[in-house]
Formats: sequence, structure tokens, C-alpha cells
Amino acid sequence: MIRTIKSGTHCALLLSRCTSKSSRSTGARHQHSSYDVAIVGGGIVGLATARELILRHPTLSFTVLEKEKELAVHQSGHNSGVIHSGIYYTPGSLKARLCVKGATMAYDYLEKKGLPYKRCGKLIVAVEREEIPRLKALYERGLKNNVRDLSIVDTKGIREREPYCRGLMALDSPYTGIVDWRLVSLTYGKDFQEAGGTVVTEFEANDISMVTESPAGSTDGMNFPIAIRSSKGDEVHCRYVLTCGGLYSDRLSQISGCSPEPRIVPFRGDYLVLKPEKHYLVKGNIYPVPDPRFPFLGVHFTPRMDGSVWLGPNAVLAFKREGYQVFDFNVRDFGDALSFRGLHRLVMKNIVYGVGEMYRGIFINAQVKILQRYIPELSLSDVLRGPAGVRAQALDRDGNLVDDFVFDGGVGDVGSRVLHVRNAPSPAATSSLAIAEMIADEVESRFSL
Ligand SMILES: Cc1cc2nc3c(=O)[nH]c(=O)nc-3n(C[C@H](O)[C@H](O)[C@H](O)COP(=O)(O)OP(=O)(O)OC[C@H]3O[C@@H](n4cnc5c(N)ncnc54)[C@H](O)[C@@H]3O)c2cc1C
Repeated sequence: MIRTIKSGTHCALLLSRCTSKSSRSTGARHQHSSYDVAIVGGGIVGLATARELILRHPTLSFTVLEKEKELAVHQSGHNSGVIHSGIYYTPGSLKARLCVKGATMAYDYLEKKGLPYKRCGKLIVAVEREEIPRLKALYERGLKNNVRDLSIVDTKGIREREPYCRGLMALDSPYTGIVDWRLVSLTYGKDFQEAGGTVVTEFEANDISMVTESPAGSTDGMNFPIAIRSSKGDEVHCRYVLTCGGLYSDRLSQISGCSPEPRIVPFRGDYLVLKPEKHYLVKGNIYPVPDPRFPFLGVHFTPRMDGSVWLGPNAVLAFKREGYQVFDFNVRDFGDALSFRGLHRLVMKNIVYGVGEMYRGIFINAQVKILQRYIPELSLSDVLRGPAGVRAQALDRDGNLVDDFVFDGGVGDVGSRVLHVRNAPSPAATSSLAIAEMIADEVESRFSL
């Protein structure tokens, strides 16, 4: 039986507060389950966009539908916590522009809200001579991207900034910072609710279709022609749907008839943590010079807002989307990844790198060896295994990492009322406020809001 959401059903409705613990509705305070726009996915992208939309359109009704009990518990709650400055990305690309703009917007927002952050800076360190030309090219790239306050420093400059770090030359980015992105996500959610938006948790959207008849007892008639059904049989009606499903964005897109590609392939990143008595070794972010042959940035040293220091992450294929333990396994997720030709191609192109990452994930002394190139004083006994995050990596069928945004709709009447954000490329936390503006523009133009 399909039910329309009201309090007392499976879903939890967060009416007035958005905290790290979801507060459930208690009485029959929920007036209706029909909204102008429903946003599926309560991660940082969905919440930032919901906030932007309701601030632009205060007379419309909005809801965020999130499958978990709490908001922002996946990528937005499992990341390095860095406010990136936008050095790495191809000049002129959307990713570069959104990151640079997003970082400035993030700092302004954090100041305005009084949220804690630290502008502790970042050094990208060349430890081999052959890395120096790449470091200099990165500097030029950063300048082209209008990254603030960049400079090249020598061995002495490195020691002044990071007394325990060794290197021949480094790119210094004092504008880079750290923050708790989950807290930021929850604050976006709070803004959204204070502006009148509704957050529903424990609502896993698994069907989107046209309403064929007005629901019994509804006074809305057919004004809200889209029905979103949850896996537990609850139902929300709306005029338009936006999905920001992170690791499930491809599956959500398929619900309204979109192509299965680009496919999301989950990559788990395991962190090591520095023992508290060794925190003095690291002051700000220390990153390697990225190797252009490999798809990820490489393991780095990152201080956290709680005073801890994380080292990593590596990047290994995860056997389960949203699986944070090494042995987490899901037959469908694993089968999907394994049968995807895009992954075969990616693996073929990066086989040595991939095996190395797996090896270093199992044998942490190998990981420590790499880290010692930057901080020679670090030893195996200084580190412990830490938490993990899983990245939603969009891949095309030729094995290329999809680096830019992918918007999709679907087919038929439903497709004309749905917008899927299939890929919001990392660092989507840093870029979230800029991304939200861009998605809101897209929503407005597609749906004539
Ligand atoms: C290891 C790691 C390190 C990173 N480090 C940084 C960093 O330092 N700085 C930075 O800026 N970025 C970083 N990123 C990237 C950043 O965290 C992500 O780009 C960003 O959090 C993505 O947000 P999102 O909202 O798209 O996805 P998510 O946070 O994953 O949110 C998607 C939400 O959709 C929900 N959902 C999915 N399917 C359904 C459904 N059917 N119904 C209802 N809800 C659904 C999920 O439960 C989830 O809450 C990192 C990422 C990883 C994995």
C-alpha cells in the first residue's frame, strides 16, 4: 500500500530544528505532503541548493528528502575537511571557477554564521628534482585561476612554515583552510528550515512517476502532478524534483528513464591518524605534487578542527557504495562496478597505481614510507588506522573520470519535471555555495520558476 507522508509514518520530519540528531515530529503538525519542489538528497549539495532556492523563492514550498536518519552523513560527513583554494583545476573550467568562487563564499558564510574554521594554509611540496617543473606549472595554473596569495618557497621557506617538513621547493597557499563540512551542511539545512523548508529523513526515494488521480482527501487536486515514493511506501507529491544523490546519483537518474551512464564507481579512501603526542609534526596541510599519470591528488597531511591530524586518504575500489569498512560488501554495488566497461578501462590504464593503493591500504608501513618523504621524523609507531570516506567517482564508458557537472532529466512527462545532478565534482564541499547558485539557475530555467 502506498501512503502519503504524515507524522507517525515511517519517515521522520524535521520541522523547526536541524541538528546533528534528527528531531522527529510528534503531533499532526504536518499540513500537507505536497510541495512545489522536492530535493532528494540531504548532503551538502542538496542542502546548499535547497537553501539557495528557498531564499530566492520564499513564496514557494520546498522539501528535502533524505534516506538516512540524519543529514550529511555520507560524503559530506566523511571527507578531509579542507577548504580548497582552486589550484589544481584546468584554467577556465567550471570546476576551477566554482572552487575559487566557492572558497570565497564559504569563508564569508563561515564568518557571517560564526562557524569555526582555520585558515591554516597548505604547502604542495616537491621532494624530487623532477617534480619541480610540475610544481612551477601548478603555480602558473593557480595564478590563472586567480587563487589568492600564492607563492613559491624554497627549503628555508618550507622550514619556516612547517618545521618538520623536508622538501626542495613548495607552493604555498595560505588561503587554504580547514572546516567541519558536516557542520556547514547542517547549518545550510537550518537556514533552509528557518526560511520555511521541510526536511524529511528516513525517506529513500525509489520511484518517481506522474500522479494519475488526485489522492483521496487531498485538496491539492492535480496541482502537484509528480509522486515520489519511498522504499517503505510513503509518498510525497510535488511539481518538480531535483535529485542530488551523491553515491546514488546514477541510480536515482535511472528511475526517471535516464541512461545508466555516467556510472558512479565508489572509491574508498582510508585515513591514518597521527597519535596526539605527534600532532606537533604538522601545522597546516601538506600535499604532494600530484602525478598527472594518476587520477587522485595523493596522500596528504591534514589537520582537523578537533585538533587531530589525518594522513591520507588512499583510493581503492569500494565493494559497497557508502561502505566505510574494508570488508563492507554489497552484491549489487560490486556487480555494477565489475560489469562496467568504464571501470575495466580505468583499471587497465592505472593497474600499477591501483595495486599500489591496495597494498598501501593493507600494509600501512608502505603508506608511512611515502609520508616520510615529507616528514622524515614520522615513524610507523606514530600512526593508527583512522576513518574512511567513499568518493562518488563518475566514470564514462571509456574509463575517463568525469570532471564536470552532468545534469540529466529523463523521458516523457516525468522527465520534463525532474533535474538530476548526476555529477557534482569534488571539491563540491568547498564549492557548495557556488554550485548551489549554478544548480538553482538551472532549476529556474528548466522549470520556469
Ligand atoms: C575521502 C573524501 C575526501 C574529500 N575531501 C574533501 C575536502 O577536503 N574538501 C572538499 O571540498 N571536498 C572534499 N571531498 C568531496 C566532498 O566531500 C563531496 O564532493 C561532497 O560532500 C558531495 O556532496 P553531495 O551532497 O553531492 O553528496 P553526499 O554528501 O554523499 O550526499 C548525498 C545524499 O543523498 C542521499 N541519498 C542518496 N540516495 C537517496 C535516495 N534514493 N533517497 C533519499 N536520499 C538519498 C544520501 O544518503 C546522502 O545523504 C571529499 C570526498 C571524499 C569522499
